[in-house]
Amino acid sequence: MNARAAGLLAALDDEQREVATHFSSPVIVLAGAGTGKTRAMTHRIAYGIATEVFPATQVLALTFTAKAAGEMRARLRSLGVPAVQARTFHSAALRQLRFFWDRFATGDFPRIIENKTGVLASVMQELGIEVSRELTRDVAAEIEFAAASLLGIADYATKAQARDLPGDLGVEDMVRIAEAYSEAKTRGRLLDFEDVLLVLDGVLAEYPAIAAEIRQQYRHFVVDEFQDVSPLQFDLLSRWLGPRENLCVVGDPAQTIYSFAGADASLLEALPSTLPSATTIRLVRNYRSTQSIVTTANSLLRHTSRTALSLRTDNPEGRPPRMTEYPTDEAEALGVVQAITAEVRAGRRPRDIAVLFRTNGQSPAYEQALTGAGIPYVLRGGERFFARKEVKEAVLMLRAARAAAGARPLPEIVAEVLVSAGFARTPPPPGASRQRWESLKALVDLAETHQAASELPVPLEDFLADLADRAEHQFAPDIEGVTLASFHAAKGLEWDSVHLVGLSEGLLPISYAQTPRAIAEERRLFYVALTRAGTDLSLSWSLARHESKQKPRAASRFLAELGRVESGPGSGRRPSATVTTNRCRVCGRVLVSQVDRSLGRCANCPGEVDLALLDQLRRWRARVGLEQGLPPYLVLTDTSLSAIAE
Ligand code: ATP
Ligand code: MG
Repeated sequence: MNARAAGLLAALDDEQREVATHFSSPVIVLAGAGTGKTRAMTHRIAYGIATEVFPATQVLALTFTAKAAGEMRARLRSLGVPAVQARTFHSAALRQLRFFWDRFATGDFPRIIENKTGVLASVMQELGIEVSRELTRDVAAEIEFAAASLLGIADYATKAQARDLPGDLGVEDMVRIAEAYSEAKTRGRLLDFEDVLLVLDGVLAEYPAIAAEIRQQYRHFVVDEFQDVSPLQFDLLSRWLGPRENLCVVGDPAQTIYSFAGADASLLEALPSTLPSATTIRLVRNYRSTQSIVTTANSLLRHTSRTALSLRTDNPEGRPPRMTEYPTDEAEALGVVQAITAEVRAGRRPRDIAVLFRTNGQSPAYEQALTGAGIPYVLRGGERFFARKEVKEAVLMLRAARAAAGARPLPEIVAEVLVSAGFARTPPPPGASRQRWESLKALVDLAETHQAASELPVPLEDFLADLADRAEHQFAPDIEGVTLASFHAAKGLEWDSVHLVGLSEGLLPISYAQTPRAIAEERRLFYVALTRAGTDLSLSWSLARHESKQKPRAASRFLAELGRVESGPGSGRRPSATVTTNRCRVCGRVLVSQVDRSLGRCANCPGEVDLALLDQLRRWRARVGLEQGLPPYLVLTDTSLSAIAE
């Protein structure tokens, strides 16, 4: 074994090493969050290349979100293998479809629609169905489900009898909509996300020459997050493979979060019998999180399925996760950003912190609060870096400067050229121009990283070639900032400090999750979110959107499933509180926590409150800068108690 290969293996534990070196049969890795599945997989690719099992260009690494694909490319680059195709199923399929389009079709390549709802809404209107945003969204999800599950209209009609259909729609309505939608796409020469996979799947089945060329190109497949594979994706993967078995898949059934869109964890669970020649490897240790985060995650895991394997770690105990209840969304955003400010002051880099939420609509409050605090942030799932106007302009300017650059150091040239695009050494005051500056700064930083990694001066052309390569792979440079992301977009990623916000009923579980299946998926989503944290985990929720007479929201039911966690704004010095499912003595509502067991009353219930506590609460609100008007309801919880104790 060469030194490079030995170095790669030295960074793995025994089970991971098995994943990286076993090439004689397919490998299935079944393991919990943070156990190094992705790490073992990327090392397998690097090891296979280092030992000449396959060249980098013959590997296709597949995953589910563009972020996860970007993360995988970043890890592969850091292992010194930049040339591997790491893509989402969708992007790999789209690329192949474009490439071979002229071989099986006539006319221009169809337009790809990223979102079905526009076309669907007009189709539904034509059918005389009253359209609302929610209904269209739910119908879109249903159509995605049918396509991803490989259900033709007839099969769907049978299956739909047992499904909870959108709004008041019946099976016949859904069938009519699906047919009309399909016709509308044909008329408009449109392909939606699932069509890209479906069409390619069909082409591979019907055009053996094309299938052979693709199989010639890709000889080794790895799939991350396999628990979220849909029957459609599985079918496509099987066609890519053909009769070969050069496959490694990794996954964790407890992290299935796309079954609403047709993902089917049973494909992973059944894989050892579907692929009898495969070797199944289990990874056992969580490397990502502290004991106390792992313990919290395990508590939730116990509620997901009886067979879920709990996590264990050799990491230090660490601080207990902290729970904080806020009166309003605004107070929550301010409180969370205050905590983040303290972390940054204490020396944590913003990029090591994330704020995660259930719906993207929760993001603006945090964007605003972070801007107010002067802390940079990066929106995950936002506009793609290389699609940003200022980045496109900057790349053009750098290209035009190819000749004038001379022999000066790369970072100097890049900074100088970008000054005229609006780059300055110091950040602008918080406001709209911030993103522009951050994009340009990221390019300058990237130039510095390039130069630092090379002993010889890096020519501008090399830098431009790297930028082109990155743009092609949507591989954004690191931008310094706190990550704001939805729970879904955070899948597979990790940060030292994670703030899970908005954990109240209606948001988590989301209001439209009504069936036990849907609730179970929300719980798994929460599990995915919790397990992103390395050392610090904070959970918060608020009782109302605004300080108004709105009916207060309840804290998420899942919080009661977390076992012992620490509560309250404060310094983490307070003893842990046991979060139990107490019931309000008056209305019987489940309380996540309550301060005064003798009071035992929830926010919904009228009645007297302890005036001494009320007074303390007022003083606390003044101290932490909350306005003086108390909400029309008052919740006396462990959280409030620890917050107001002086
Ligand atoms: P998820 O289920 O969330 O996708 P995962 O199983 O893919 O998690 P990784 O992201 O690969 O886990 O690893 C989690 C963290 O643990 C990473 O920071 C990784 O570098 C680290 N890690 C994994 N294995 C080891 C190891 N053998 N030694 C040191 N660190 C490790
Ligand atoms: Mg992973």
